[in-house]
Amino acid sequence: MKPFRYERADDVSSAVTAVAEEPDAAFLAGGTNLVDLMRLEVATPEVLIDVRRLTSDRIEELPDGALRIGAAVPNSDLAADHRVRRRYPMLSQAILSGASGQLRNLATTGGNLLQRTRCAYFQNVTTPCNKRQPGSGCSALEGYQRDLAILGSSPACVATHPSDMAVALAALDAVVTVRGPGAERRIPVTELHRLPGDAPERDTVLERGELITGVELPPPPHLTASRYRKVRDRASFAFALVSVAAALDVADGTVRDVRIALGGVAHKPWRATAAETALRGAPATRESFRGAAAAELAPARPLPGNAFKVPLARNTIVSVLLELVQERR
Ligand SMILES: Cc1cc2nc3c(=O)[nH]c(=O)nc-3n(C[C@H](O)[C@H](O)[C@H](O)COP(=O)(O)OP(=O)(O)OC[C@H]3O[C@@H](n4cnc5c(N)ncnc54)[C@H](O)[C@@H]3O)c2cc1C
Ligand code: SF4
Repeated sequence: MKPFRYERADDVSSAVTAVAEEPDAAFLAGGTNLVDLMRLEVATPEVLIDVRRLTSDRIEELPDGALRIGAAVPNSDLAADHRVRRRYPMLSQAILSGASGQLRNLATTGGNLLQRTRCAYFQNVTTPCNKRQPGSGCSALEGYQRDLAILGSSPACVATHPSDMAVALAALDAVVTVRGPGAERRIPVTELHRLPGDAPERDTVLERGELITGVELPPPPHLTASRYRKVRDRASFAFALVSVAAALDVADGTVRDVRIALGGVAHKPWRATAAETALRGAPATRESFRGAAAAELAPARPLPGNAFKVPLARNTIVSVLLELVQERR
């Protein structure tokens, strides 16, 4: 690991200024991703600004029924919170499906959103990778492809975003609050992460020095049933091959409302808007669910090593929606 300085800022604005003005500075939260990447010398910051005590570690009720989650709230606290478990069960399920108990105790809400891809070539400094070293090439295109994207990728990068929590937050229309050198801004989770295009080195729309201060969950949707299902190679301690976060409201056999987001399929949590549009007002049947899943996956462009993800994603969407229909009976 390269030597680095560790600092604690007095307040949010000095932390923001420190990272905005120093090109080799990085925010440090739980460190469960950043420190691993520093050990591998994938990340080589000269100074770490510890923000864990600067942002809130509390979950608060807002007057309109929304919940505000401080950026420093540990993943385990968020998953265990009784309001989250009751009103947003898919979020609790998504968090608990990731990492391990010890890691979730350390990992924070802000850090989880900004964890970096698990592409094996990104983590191996001896191989070309456009995300780690822009312009060097993409080893994954001719390499190990099982974990890679099937939607929204580019010739420059086919990596996936690894966070389970972010997929549930995308389905729930959560909004991230951010403090930067300018004014505070609010970014829907669905717009926080980028598709790779020709700049895969940029995971998100955040500018240098912008600090996530919290996440707001709008009042729970009037969707009676919700679920997060993660399909992976091992039952625990593995990232998603495909995951589905879904909530469904059915009345008299017809879909009144639906939310679906997919994980493990793209460079960002993938909100399945084509499937949602196809389903609103449609009969809540296997045939409708199949048609909606097919509509969502029509633009999929898999590689030879991850073509299995297309039927896997389609079948998982259908199976989760059918399960939600059953649950209501
Ligand atoms: C073995 C292992 C298995 C795992 N399995 C899973 C899994 O199955 N599913 C899953 O979703 N995750 C998994 N994870 C990842 C884990 O969830 C993340 O490492 C963790 O959530 C990152 O949070 P952190 O607070 O430790 O972030 P850090 O490592 O401290 O930071 C991560 C990034 O976020 C930036 N950052 C942190 N806080 C802020 C902020 N407030 N504002 C702006 N930037 C910030 C940092 O600069 C850094 O770039 C696994 C990790 C490990 C080590
Ligand atoms: S898929 Fe992206 S992260 Fe992986 S090697 Fe290619 S450029 Fe790097």
